[in-house]
Amino acid sequence: MNFSTMSISENLKKIKGGIPEEVTLVAVSKTKPIETVLEAYEAGQRIFGENKIQEMTHKWEVLPKDIEWHMIGHVQRNKVKYMAEFVSLVHGVDSFRLLTEINKQAKKHNRTIRCLLQMHIAEESTKFGLDEKELAEILDSEAFQELRHVEVVGLMGMATFTEDAEQVRKEFAHLKNVFDQVQLKLPKISELSMGMSGDYTIAIEEGSTMVRIGSSIFGARNYH
Ligand SMILES: *Cc1c(COP(=O)(O)O)cnc(C)c1O
Repeated sequence: MNFSTMSISENLKKIKGGIPEEVTLVAVSKTKPIETVLEAYEAGQRIFGENKIQEMTHKWEVLPKDIEWHMIGHVQRNKVKYMAEFVSLVHGVDSFRLLTEINKQAKKHNRTIRCLLQMHIAEESTKFGLDEKELAEILDSEAFQELRHVEVVGLMGMATFTEDAEQVRKEFAHLKNVFDQVQLKLPKISELSMGMSGDYTIAIEEGSTMVRIGSSIFGARNYH
């Protein structure tokens, strides 16, 4: 589909109309200026995803306070403190050390931060995430049970960047399988964050509850 000639509100409407109501749409606004985020806000969007803590913090400071900010990128432990006051969901938690740091910073603000554990499902070794053994180690540890200021509410994963739809489907199906296993142990696990502009339709077919969509809403990103 060619979104480039349509407005942000038209893109949002089109995407929302094409996904089931119970699937949460995270509008990925990384690299986009404040005015652009506001345009989506005015079209009714309230959940935004960013992949850099400093950029997200700046946007949180200047934009309306009823926006839910999701951290979707790789998180450096030394920067958790900047988002601990306001972040609504951290998608990319890929180590127990990071979870511990989020817990520590959340405690300072007397709050609980919701987190997703990121699983490595792609063929590319460059992508972040836990394998199943590491996931089980975290969930089964006593130290994990003792964290009072984080709540693990689900899993997140990114498929291989490929034209091969069957490969992508296989990876999402695998993650859904892991999700179902975890849910048997931890019934409060309810979110499965998978799917981006290029693959969200497949992700939803395979059980995604949350899609992270950037370029199909805002157009291509300019990196500098
Ligand atoms: C940038 C990004 C997205 C959105 O990508 P699009 O292809 O623009 O939809 C989703 N998830 C993560 C983790 C990202 O970094």
